[in-house]
Amino acid sequence: MTRDRPQSTPICPKCGYDQSGEIATWESSCPVEGICPECGLGFAWADVLDPSRVDLAWYVEHAMSKWEMVRRTIPTLWLLLIPNRYWSRMRMESSRSLRRYAIWIFAVMAVAHLLSTIALVVASHSNMKQMNASALQFLANQPPASRGQYQQLLYDVDGVDYWWPLIGESLLYPVVNRSMDTGGMTLDVGSFAIGCAGFSVMWFVLFCAFPTTRKRSQLRMVHVARAMVVAGLFPLLVIEIARVGDALLFAAIIRNPMLAFDSMAMTILFWMMICLLVWIQWFWVSAVWIGWKVKIRWYELILVVFASLFGILIGSFLVFVLSFIGQGIEMVASQIGI
Ligand SMILES: [Zn+2]
Repeated sequence: MTRDRPQSTPICPKCGYDQSGEIATWESSCPVEGICPECGLGFAWADVLDPSRVDLAWYVEHAMSKWEMVRRTIPTLWLLLIPNRYWSRMRMESSRSLRRYAIWIFAVMAVAHLLSTIALVVASHSNMKQMNASALQFLANQPPASRGQYQQLLYDVDGVDYWWPLIGESLLYPVVNRSMDTGGMTLDVGSFAIGCAGFSVMWFVLFCAFPTTRKRSQLRMVHVARAMVVAGLFPLLVIEIARVGDALLFAAIIRNPMLAFDSMAMTILFWMMICLLVWIQWFWVSAVWIGWKVKIRWYELILVVFASLFGILIGSFLVFVLSFIGQGIEMVASQIGI
């Protein structure tokens, strides 16, 4: 007799209905395809009996090695960016490890953070050199006797005393910001991206809190929880894009002080927020309609979309908590000379 493993209980991938009874009716042969008597989902019996068979070649959660994860990064990012395609390719049988997804998102963020840090360092350093060039020009126009009193206009751009705070600030920007006059897009976009997690939590609450929704959707809550994590973490990548945007603006401000950078930053910020808001709702509507095939009328879906906007309250609370962590980082940074 083999050991009875609870995780191998054959259940419907969508609603979780136990299929053991159905399997018990098989006598001489096994069918290839099946239909859940509870929710009507069609599936291949092989996938239900062994969910690890389902391998989405493009998806990072199904990667078996680090190298495979790297190879699947671009296709996963691309499909996540277009949620209806993501959900039409996602299979309900195919849940793997959310841990792997979370590790992947943070690894992608770490690489993107390194790149955006380099962008900020280059912007800061080139601004400093630009300021020194202007100061040198100014000094050259002064009578030789009075040049000495203007020497402090020149910054020393060599040595650890210069590079350590510069790199530290670039790494921790916008939590630590001492010298970068950037228009502050990252802080606003970042807060909004974190706030977007609130919309996702609200979608989850709307699904779980009402027994009628839960019963009618005939959906295992694990699918909704997974979507909450996927949709909550993905917008965080926008923070890195905003950091590069801030670096570009910062580098441009010194060179063209007459241009209206504040209004430019505001416009970019506005569109980034709109895109985030559209993406998060697009993701959830696609999940409900395409991914899970929940029988819901369009006006009900619009109502849920509006109700999910109250999630901004949850998101604001999250931002509030994170602002304290930010203050802590700022304090530590000033103690170590950043
Ligand atoms: Zn079912």
